[in-house]
Amino acid sequence: MLQCTAVTDVPYHEALLALATMEGGPEHAPDVLAPDEFLLCELGEHDESVEHAAYLWAARTPDVDQDLWLLWTGAGAHRLYRLAVLPVCPARLRELATRTVTPCAYFDHHPAPHSFHVTDPLGDLIAPPTSNDEP
Ligand SMILES: [Zn+2]
Ligand SMILES: [Zn+2]
Repeated sequence: MLQCTAVTDVPYHEALLALATMEGGPEHAPDVLAPDEFLLCELGEHDESVEHAAYLWAARTPDVDQDLWLLWTGAGAHRLYRLAVLPVCPARLRELATRTVTPCAYFDHHPAPHSFHVTDPLGDLIAPPTSNDEP
């Protein structure tokens, strides 16, 4: 499955506030986010009933893995969005032949499929599609 191609501009001040107030957020939020940044939906292609989701930050907390996501629907003046700190998806892809384990990069209870079944159409133009290019 191909990756969704939706892009949106970051709601900068709200995103900064979320980064600054989340547990395990960056020390200095403006260092990790620029005001003119655009965010790409990370999910596999989906229909309009599903929110787009762009990854913003991985929290560094000792016991829980959770990430900050921007979730949105619509575009332009019709865009509705929210910032949410969500636990990571527990799914892992194990490839016995190569002994690699690829964790899903999405949040828990995301719409199907998992990230390791999604191909970035832009990335494929640069690198040949391999299923196990993990280090
Ligand atoms: Zn999307
Ligand atoms: Zn997943």
